[in-house]
Amino acid sequence: MYRVLKFGGSSVASATNVSRVLDIVEAEAKKGCVILVSSAISGCTDALLSGDEAQFREMERRHADMVRRLFTGPQRIALQERMKALFGQMRQAPADEKVTFGEIFSTTILAEKLETEGYRTIWLDSRDLVVKGDEATTYKRIKSAVKATQADIFVAPGFICQDGDGKISTLGRGGSDYSAALYAAAVQAESLQIWTDVPGIMTANPKQVPAARTVPRMSYGAALDMASHGAKVLYAPTVAPAMSAGIDIEIRNTFAPDGKYTVIGNCPDASRWIGVASEKGNIRLVGAQMPDVTGDDAVENAGKALAEAGIAAVKMTPDGPSLNIEVREGVLDQALRALHRAFFQELPVQEVNLFIAGNGAVGQALVKMVRESAGAVKERTGKHLRIVGLANSTQYGIDLGGNPVIGKKGDYIRAILEEASKGSIFVDASNSETLYLRYPELLQAGIGIVSSNRRSFAGSYTDFAAVHLAARENGAPLRYETTVGAALPILDSIARGANSCDEVLSIEAVVSCTLNQILSDYRPGGASFAAMVKKAQEAGLTEPDPRLDLGGKDALRKLLILAREAGIPLEEAQVKVQPIVPPELLQGSLGQFYEGLEAYEPQWAQQAMEAEQQGFRRRFVAWLEKKDEGYVAGIGLRNVPPVHPAYHLRGTENAIIVRSAFHPYPLVIQGPGEGAREAASSILNDILR
Ligand code: ASP
Ligand code: MG
Repeated sequence: MYRVLKFGGSSVASATNVSRVLDIVEAEAKKGCVILVSSAISGCTDALLSGDEAQFREMERRHADMVRRLFTGPQRIALQERMKALFGQMRQAPADEKVTFGEIFSTTILAEKLETEGYRTIWLDSRDLVVKGDEATTYKRIKSAVKATQADIFVAPGFICQDGDGKISTLGRGGSDYSAALYAAAVQAESLQIWTDVPGIMTANPKQVPAARTVPRMSYGAALDMASHGAKVLYAPTVAPAMSAGIDIEIRNTFAPDGKYTVIGNCPDASRWIGVASEKGNIRLVGAQMPDVTGDDAVENAGKALAEAGIAAVKMTPDGPSLNIEVREGVLDQALRALHRAFFQELPVQEVNLFIAGNGAVGQALVKMVRESAGAVKERTGKHLRIVGLANSTQYGIDLGGNPVIGKKGDYIRAILEEASKGSIFVDASNSETLYLRYPELLQAGIGIVSSNRRSFAGSYTDFAAVHLAARENGAPLRYETTVGAALPILDSIARGANSCDEVLSIEAVVSCTLNQILSDYRPGGASFAAMVKKAQEAGLTEPDPRLDLGGKDALRKLLILAREAGIPLEEAQVKVQPIVPPELLQGSLGQFYEGLEAYEPQWAQQAMEAEQQGFRRRFVAWLEKKDEGYVAGIGLRNVPPVHPAYHLRGTENAIIVRSAFHPYPLVIQGPGEGAREAASSILNDILR
């Protein structure tokens, strides 16, 4: 069985390089009969084409140098004589034949060296065997020449041949690859190896695109597409003979023989895009050879990739599975890099494991949202979110593979501490009043915390500060934007002011969605206030116990968080809370509460009517104000005039109005302040920050 090895000009450029070639050939000769096809040494073909005697002399010197280094004694002298004679013949040869001597020079030295190494070596004259444009004859001649003799290694010059009339000719620049494929096809070689100076066919020319990488396998079609559109690593006509003979083409690197390489063969392409090649300002984005695939799908992405690099394509034309792109000459390399980045470079992806606590409306919305948007999030941010822990108030489930099922009793936090890696995120989407006591343990383990549970931040200021300290000491993120106004960027805005030493003079927060909804929908004589509260409770719009909303507890928690975010260590006891209805009504059982509220309807209707007559709207406001003696804070029902930003709130909108020392006008943030989806999106964004 035959193994065809072709070496390019740089592989045989010097004695040192030739010794690498010998190592490779030696290993291959153990596996079968080697047919070694070689180019001229690098620069030689150009030198011969120049017709310039000075360049001839330089080539003669380089070859003599190789001979001197590779041989000794009488052999050296004999070969020096032969080389001298060959250079003489070259000088005598007609101008158009001079170029055919480069491969004769190189293969003469190689054959002689292999003979010296003890291999039975036969030099084949490609000028007799290879007939340009007539593969049938070429194959016949090669086969009989090779079969006629017993040899370990055949050495044949690449590139050179005869034309149909028997006149000496060449196969075109880069044609040695093609010579090798002809030799391989003729003898049905078991291996065809093109040894060059790069690690196979790459996703781009590494000289233009440093991030280019080797394509390990590609189809004949894709290789042909790359080669015919400027990928110099392979001479395009090489593909056809190998393909019809069903022989794989290996493209390997002489200078890293054990490194990466490409196998071209009868295989489907592994990915949609193969590489990007270029020729004279024309870029070719080479697509996989797949039936029914067209390059049309790339137009938009290619345009976007170029636009991001500030380049406008002159023209883009899909061609089969590939895409032709024309750009201005000056931006060619930049364009290649931009396209390569978009189509071939996977950006690093960071895995983020999420342990979620709370399986209510918010928890469930979050799980759904994370699962639905994980792909898009990864694209946008490079973060791959994976839910690995879930829990309700009594049970949990952990699965680092991403499919946790709630069902285990026990200490969820302890289990997380055992399983979670640093950089994981614990999400508190629960309503637990005590879970925050465990936050410091998680933070100490380097686990970040994202919370929508406002109970966690509305306890004593000491507890609040302790959690923050644990986060800071351990460099673990702690975020809870969701706790006030759901997805509205309220806390972030307040923190920004505080961070830049702006001082808060007052905060007015209309942050109870349910009450806003009821206050704006209420009409005296329509559904009673009690009925509306009940309806909201049943729709899940209130806290589980609606008295937390009506009594101002929920607004109080939000106010504490707002104040603390502004750097004011506000405590619950400092806030004057006036429930929306007389406090006596909030006592007893839930049933008693609704009864009492129903009985209170006449007074409620009266108040509402009075406010309306005076041109006011009623809003439940949590407020904080800087006075000479310090901050004072309260919560209560207020009549607001049309000039007040909160006058125009609709439905469950929230508004917060912050006046600060730096600014003559207040910061007003207004928008949807509630809903499981809003909360989930806010949590998601805290996770991604
Ligand atoms: N020596 C020829 C050239 O430089 C053929 C080859 O290297 O493949 O074009
Ligand atoms: Mg070449």
